[in-house]
Amino acid sequence: MFTCRNKSCGAEWALSDVDIHNEGQGLLFRCPMCGARNYVKPQKTKEGEVSYKQIQQVQEIPPSGKR
Ligand SMILES: [Zn+2]
Repeated sequence: MFTCRNKSCGAEWALSDVDIHNEGQGLLFRCPMCGARNYVKPQKTKEGEVSYKQIQQVQEIPPSGKR
């Protein structure tokens, strides 16, 4: 179960509800409700299946054009 890290949203999603993909900054899913980026980390279970763990910290993209 994942929880949207957008505090004003906070919706909960099962793995089957979200689309996990890579936008260049690591694996994430977009909250289907508010569109917030929620980063996840793939983990292998003992059974050899891949599960995803939600990462709490925000990976900020450095502002471009700033020197
Ligand atoms: Zn959300």
